[in-house]
Amino acid sequence: MRISLLIFLVSIQMACGVAEERYHIDEETTPDSNTDDQGGVAFHSSTGWTGSVTFFVEANAPDQIVEASENAAQTWNDAVGYNVLSFGGIAESDRGEELYTSLDDTMTVVYYEESWLDTTGKPSTTLATTVWENAAGSDEIVKGDIILNAEIYAYQDSTVVPDEDDEVESTSYVVDTETVLLHEFGHLLGLDHVTVDEDENSVMHPKTFIGLYMHSRELSEGDAFNIQELYPQP
Ligand SMILES: [Zn+2]
Repeated sequence: MRISLLIFLVSIQMACGVAEERYHIDEETTPDSNTDDQGGVAFHSSTGWTGSVTFFVEANAPDQIVEASENAAQTWNDAVGYNVLSFGGIAESDRGEELYTSLDDTMTVVYYEESWLDTTGKPSTTLATTVWENAAGSDEIVKGDIILNAEIYAYQDSTVVPDEDDEVESTSYVVDTETVLLHEFGHLLGLDHVTVDEDENSVMHPKTFIGLYMHSRELSEGDAFNIQELYPQP
């Protein structure tokens, strides 16, 4: 079964002053995704992957994507206590023309997709998606990829103030790469969404903020507990 989880921009609220901007992001599953019946609360897989996951970053991605992916992976690794995610290098990988075509190979790749609309069939408002494939007859994860919507959004380190000389069309579309990758790596590893009511500080909320200075780069205690459930100490 091939599944994806998406982040959507659902509403925009703007106030005066850059630091007050709040972009409200929502996320929903595709119709073929039925995460409620699998794995239990906070999990879309009861087992995750067997062994650790080596991921690559697509060659056309800026260096900042590599850096942010290594940081986000390290955050999950620190919680697990061993390397459940390892950066394998740069991949000259073409993810193909459709949402799931990148699952035709066995590589796990973070794609910086500048042709988001044509190749995913998803709305421009969608920030990113994680696609994965389960083993036949089980919910063990055997393949997965992360796709960033780099056609619409400015993926960068949101904590870095843009130079006045930089040609920034609008800081409204700034997305903190590490924040999104931390969330998407959570899905890649087998975690599902957690509501604000369930855990106020989780990185797996279905809603998050984007914009300059907006980021969420630290796991909650609940996130750490959940990932340790999936990847216990050997
Ligand atoms: Zn999500």
